[in-house]
Amino acid sequence: MSAGAIPTGQSHVPYRYAIAIGSNRRGRHGSPEREVAAALSALAPLSASPIIVSAPLGPSIRRFANAVALIDSAEPPPVLLARLKGLEQRFGRRSGQRWGARVIDLDIILWSGGIWRSTGLSVPHVAFRARRFVLDPLARIAPDWRDPQTGRTVRQLAARARAVDRRPHRS
Ligand code: ADP
Ligand code: MG
Repeated sequence: MSAGAIPTGQSHVPYRYAIAIGSNRRGRHGSPEREVAAALSALAPLSASPIIVSAPLGPSIRRFANAVALIDSAEPPPVLLARLKGLEQRFGRRSGQRWGARVIDLDIILWSGGIWRSTGLSVPHVAFRARRFVLDPLARIAPDWRDPQTGRTVRQLAARARAVDRRPHRS
């Protein structure tokens, strides 16, 4: 199966999406974990991964919470992205906060339509193949979804990312 690797089944909604949800800052719902939980309920997903809480790399003292959700939607990618950005703002994320602390970050990882590229939007998400905090939860709910760019399944991509993490580091 290609783009339809995750069939939309009996649903008449045209597209399926995998959305990554991340937080590393407290917001009005509380801890990053609670922010991710609140974002999950706002998205009303078909299925959601467990929320993974991890200590950050580097000097930051922040904790990260991450999850992935599958949703069905009639919205094409730019329309969905606009809705996700609206949700980020409702959660208190200020625009321009790119790498820093954010109450909520919502990224479109994959969609059932294959490859999408437009100004300010690439699906599959350009960095997801290197992000275990996306691949590990995604593999829990959609292991057989095939990345249209590499032809690899999410399960395979997650295994590769784990292998890269296990490589000895030279210093
Ligand atoms: P990041 O998610 O990389 O940490 P941002 O959330 O600030 O950083 O995203 C920066 C921009 O990336 C967004 O304004 C959006 O236009 C763009 N973008 C490109 N592809 C995607 C995607 N698949 N999902 C979400 N945003 C995307
Ligand atoms: Mg983002």
